Amino acid sequence: MVNIQDFNFAGKKAIVRVDFNVPLNEQGQITDDTRIRGALPTLKKILADGGALIIMSHMGKPKGKVNPKLSLGQITDAVAAALGCPVKFAPDCAKAADAAAALKPGEVLLLENLRFYPEEEGKPVGIDKADPAYDAAKKEMKARQTEFAKTLAGYADVYVNDAFGTAHRRHASTAVIADFFDAEHKMLGLLMEKEVNAIDAVLRNAQHPFTAIIGGSKVSSKLGVIKFLLDKVDNLIIGGGMGFTFIKAQGGHIGNSLHEDELMPDALAIIEACKEKGVKLSLSTQTIAADDFSNDANRKPVDIFNIPEGWEGMDAGEESLAAWREIILNSKTILWNGPVGVFEFENFAHGTGEIAKYVAEATRQGAFSLIGGGDSVAAVNKFGLADQVSYVSTGGGAMLEAIEGKVLPGVAAIKGE
Ligand code: AMP
Repeated sequence: MVNIQDFNFAGKKAIVRVDFNVPLNEQGQITDDTRIRGALPTLKKILADGGALIIMSHMGKPKGKVNPKLSLGQITDAVAAALGCPVKFAPDCAKAADAAAALKPGEVLLLENLRFYPEEEGKPVGIDKADPAYDAAKKEMKARQTEFAKTLAGYADVYVNDAFGTAHRRHASTAVIADFFDAEHKMLGLLMEKEVNAIDAVLRNAQHPFTAIIGGSKVSSKLGVIKFLLDKVDNLIIGGGMGFTFIKAQGGHIGNSLHEDELMPDALAIIEACKEKGVKLSLSTQTIAADDFSNDANRKPVDIFNIPEGWEGMDAGEESLAAWREIILNSKTILWNGPVGVFEFENFAHGTGEIAKYVAEATRQGAFSLIGGGDSVAAVNKFGLADQVSYVSTGGGAMLEAIEGKVLPGVAAIKGE
């Protein structure tokens, strides 16, 4: 594998997988261009070297069919404005060989939405998994996926993957295409490198004490993450809705709080595993209970083991926060995934905002902090603290799979792991 910083793109054509899956309004205008801005360092480096750029991405879920509402043609002007140069558009990503061949150094071609072709995702369409013919259909689609990837690869001399958000998928443009380039001609983009390095810093080279803060709604969606982290962390803070399953499993009265009865054995197993492995588990002790799931509900701080009937825990109480603050400020590595309360409701956002502040404070004191996975990113953004933590991951699903210890196909295809 080569390092993009060390590669000179002069005279080369580079095909770059980016994540331009930007949100659009009804008029097809971009409402948040974070993802376009995120890819600029890689794209600009290639152009500055004197390379030609072929940009490819998916947008939305067209499910293998052409859908004008999800056409990347709508964002050509925005990409051109961001790059500061004209951008040509190829209206069929699988028939762009001539347009790619005609590209001169410094020119840019944006391909139409890759997912207009079912080959991109490589899943057979219109056939149920239970159908006896499914396996044959899957095999056929895999072969078509390889051909599709080969077509895309044929446009360029070099392949760059800068789309961390899809790195956990083995799609034509995110992984299969890499097989058509030798090790000297495929690489991670700058954004992708940053993501991978931040996750490596936490999972492979963590300074101790290492604290994971896991919140959010369900134990079931975070079980893999928690189990994997148990061998890595010194402290495990569990907050948010998922904490109540742990409390109920230990005999607590949690009123109407969110919980998953069927996950109680897993919660008890995690409590035991923490003891065995010497991980300090810190569950919430006090919650802000509400008499309704709404922003305007009545609320009061209560002991988390004794939530009154008709009330539900919606945010972390001051007592829990004080304990968590102490742990966070004494940490050298912090991984945060999931809010510790219903932070979408202003009146129950306090705890999550405090956690964001503690993580920022610990970072100022020299800790490395990685925030990732959906809602915790929204939370640090909401509290304006995104630039005060070490790294905010852009890839929700990819980040979660990485911190479950899974190998990301998009990264493996390039690194050859
Ligand atoms: P997740 O996607 O699993 O990280 O969960 C995020 C969601 O968990 C957010 O929408 C929060 O509102 C929700 N959440 C956090 N704490 C609670 C709670 N105590 N009760 C209900 N939902 C919660």
